Amino acid sequence: MIPGIARSIVIGMNIFDRLGETRANIAFAREYTLELQEQGRRLMKTGKTISRICEVCGSPQQEDRFMAPVYDFVACRNCGFVYAKSILGEEAMDKFYRHDEVAQRSWSKQLERLEANPNTTQYPGLVTRIMKNVRGRERALDFGCGQGEFLYELKGHFRKVIGVELGKEQAETARRKFGVEVLEGDIGSLGLQKESFDLICMNQVIEHLPRVNDVLKKLVQLLKPEGVLAITCPNLDSWSMRIFREKHSHVNTQVHVNMFSPKTIEKLALRHGLKKRQVGTYMLDTTLIDLAYLIFAKKSFMHRCNFNILLYPPSWLLEKAVNKANEISNNVLMGSSGSYIEAIFMK
Ligand SMILES: [Zn+2]
Repeated sequence: MIPGIARSIVIGMNIFDRLGETRANIAFAREYTLELQEQGRRLMKTGKTISRICEVCGSPQQEDRFMAPVYDFVACRNCGFVYAKSILGEEAMDKFYRHDEVAQRSWSKQLERLEANPNTTQYPGLVTRIMKNVRGRERALDFGCGQGEFLYELKGHFRKVIGVELGKEQAETARRKFGVEVLEGDIGSLGLQKESFDLICMNQVIEHLPRVNDVLKKLVQLLKPEGVLAITCPNLDSWSMRIFREKHSHVNTQVHVNMFSPKTIEKLALRHGLKKRQVGTYMLDTTLIDLAYLIFAKKSFMHRCNFNILLYPPSWLLEKAVNKANEISNNVLMGSSGSYIEAIFMK
C-alpha cells in the first residue's frame, strides 16, 4: 500500500517537473523567435539584401507563395521550388552564423539538453539507414556539424570523421565534448582532397544556404565515386506546413531561405549528377495545443511556442503515437507529408 502511494507520488512529481520544464522551454522558444524576427526585419530594412532566382533549375520566373514574418516566399514557375525571394546580405548572414548573441542562447540551451540526456539522438535510426547505402568506411564529413552530436554518432563507423562549422562556439564545443576534428570556413578553401569522402551529411543545413548550388557542387566533388550524400531538412509538402503556413517554425525567422519538398530535393540532386537511394519524411510537428491556439487564439499563435497545461499530456501522447506509427510503417503513414525530409543520394 505505502510503496504504491510513494510510487504514485514520485510519478506525479515527475510529470509535474516535466510540465514545468516544457512550459519554460516553450516560453524560451517564443522569446527567442520574437527576438530573431525583430532582428531579421530590422536588418532587412537597414542592411544589404540579396535577390534570388531558383536554385534548383536556374529559372528567374517566380510567383508569390506566402509572406512569412521576415521573408516573402515565392515558387519557381518552372520547377515548383519554394524559396525566399529577397534575403539578408552575405555579410549579415555570415556574422549571424559565426557568432550572434541571440542565436548563441539557443545553442547553449541545446547543449544543456544534451548534457542532461547524453544518449538521445536528434535523428533516430538515421545512421543505420545511411550505413546501409555507404560502401566505404574510410572518411565521413558532416557539413554544418553544429556542436558535433551527429559526428559523434558517425565516429564508430568510419576511420576518420571531420566536421565543418561556421559557428565558432559550436565548433569549439564539438572538439571539446566529442573529440572530433572540426574545420571552420568556406568549404572550397579548407584544402580538402577531391573524391576523398565515402559519406557527406547535411543535417538541417541546406535550408539555410543562400547559394545551394555552389555548396553542393563543391561537396559532390569531395565525394568518392559511389559516395553517399545524406540530407535532412524541412519539408514544404508536410501536413504541418499546410496547416501553419507562414506561421510555421520552418519559415518564421530569417534563418531558413529554402523550402524543399521530396520532389524538388530530388530534382536538385539530379542536377548535380546524383542518384536517388531513398527519400522519405518524418515527424508530425503538429500538436493539439498548436491546433487549439491556431483556431481559438490566432493572434498570439506561434508554431511550437504555445503551451496549455491541460492539453499538453494528450497532445504529447498523440504526437508520439503518430511519429512512432510512421517509423514502424516505414514512412507509409505520412508518405511525403512528414515535417522533415530525409534523403539519401549516391554519386
Ligand atoms: Zn526552378
